[in-house]
Amino acid sequence: MKSPLQPQPIQRADLLARLREPQPWDAVIVGGGATGLGIAVDAAARGLRVALIEARDFGSGTSSRSTKLVHGGVRYLAQGNVKLVREALEERATLLAIAPHLVHPLEFVVPCYRPLERPFLRVGLGMYDLLAGRRSVGPTRWLSRDETLARLPGIRPEGLRGGVSYWDGQFDDALMCIALMQTAYALGATPINYVCCEGLHLRDGRIASVRAVDAETGESFELATTCVFNAAGVWVDGVRRLADPDARKLITVSQGSHLVVERDFLPGSAALMIPKTRDGRVLFVIPWFDKLLIGTTDGPRPDAPWEPQPSREEIEFMLETARGYLARPITTADVRASFAGLRPLFDPGRAGSTAAISREHAVLTEFGNLISIVGGKWTTYRKMAVDALAAARRAGLLDARSARTEDLALVVDRVLVDPARRSAPDAGYAEHCRRFTQARTAEDIVARRARLAYLDRARAERTQSAL
Ligand SMILES: Cc1cc2nc3c(=O)[nH]c(=O)nc-3n(C[C@H](O)[C@H](O)[C@H](O)COP(=O)(O)OP(=O)(O)OC[C@H]3O[C@@H](n4cnc5c(N)ncnc54)[C@H](O)[C@@H]3O)c2cc1C
Repeated sequence: MKSPLQPQPIQRADLLARLREPQPWDAVIVGGGATGLGIAVDAAARGLRVALIEARDFGSGTSSRSTKLVHGGVRYLAQGNVKLVREALEERATLLAIAPHLVHPLEFVVPCYRPLERPFLRVGLGMYDLLAGRRSVGPTRWLSRDETLARLPGIRPEGLRGGVSYWDGQFDDALMCIALMQTAYALGATPINYVCCEGLHLRDGRIASVRAVDAETGESFELATTCVFNAAGVWVDGVRRLADPDARKLITVSQGSHLVVERDFLPGSAALMIPKTRDGRVLFVIPWFDKLLIGTTDGPRPDAPWEPQPSREEIEFMLETARGYLARPITTADVRASFAGLRPLFDPGRAGSTAAISREHAVLTEFGNLISIVGGKWTTYRKMAVDALAAARRAGLLDARSARTEDLALVVDRVLVDPARRSAPDAGYAEHCRRFTQARTAEDIVARRARLAYLDRARAERTQSAL
């Protein structure tokens, strides 16, 4: 692996000037979340001329609102989806290697209160580790009652029989978006935020150009291109309908919410995994910065708003589930921040609960050169990009130059990830975010660079008004 590229200053005026050039693009990518940014890195690494347009800020959609796990998905193993789990476990190892400043191994402990729960979990989680093979990040093992209490100080001791410990990955999702954007830029791509795709123009049955509009000035650009990657997450069908208003729906939207509370409810370094909630899912209580992240939920959300909010029922459900495991009573007054994200679930037409729809991704080519990438998970963004580029090659759109993104270290921006500077962002930090990461507003800085809005809403509001 080569040493990581350095962050570079990025001028919006230069990016806009590139959008004005008449020379056609090899690819225009719509959407600056995990999926679109992953494609931008892959395409730029192949030497292609690529533009990425993001309607709002990078990662402001689902990609900053995840549970922040780089994981195979224990839950998917329970559903028997071995292929998805194995692929994600491979990617977990890759992301640990290419972004060690943003991804790290984390120990999870499942406390067991019922008879036979421990051997059952030990076998399941042992299989999870076996599937990772040499890419395992830590062994699955039994824990005695005392060891469980030592790993998870703060859990309910009554009735505790012991526990099972396993390892997975944790990362900073919004900063990973910024690192991908900086990497794509350093490789020659033109990624720009606050520019929206408002039209797809057809010529001879193919997409000839993309109409992009600068949200700050209203300036409109006609981006002639060989192909378009539609990576608009839960809004992917809206982009497809710019070309065909009658396009059949490809995705179902599900909302998942999180709560953030003080760390002292569970002050150790391991995360708590609750293996079965009332609705048959898992719930995590995870150390995140100086706080605890609790999540998530899964319920239909057909309206797909830009700024989804956790419902009162979701909040109560998570608190109630956590109360069953934590020694100290936890209430809504303890919630420091909360956020919701929308899952773009590829829906091959099966009815049923959103939790039953697979997290696998799909790549669909329409009009010969409109490639939509739907579904998937953060963990597999790199593999999704490889598959999207392969679809473009199969369609004869892009030549077969290859890129080994599994060996491509992402840009390391030391100022951005510095814990002291992030926890108290000042004018210097804000200036760095504007110059090197395309932050356009105080909210971009506080929410998706420093992460304060996701950790402590009251502090974020105070900081935001001071910047
Ligand atoms: C609650 C929750 C928890 C999750 N936890 C995990 C986890 O722990 N680990 C994991 O691996 N995965 C997790 N996931 C899944 C993962 O977060 C998503 O699969 C991933 O973030 C989707 O990225 P995306 O780029 O496809 O979508 P998005 O991040 O939503 O990006 C799409 C972008 O397109 C932009 N856009 C839309 N329309 C236009 C337009 N017309 N013009 C320009 N731009 C446009 C949007 O502004 C948006 O930024 C979770 C998902 C949810 C909802």
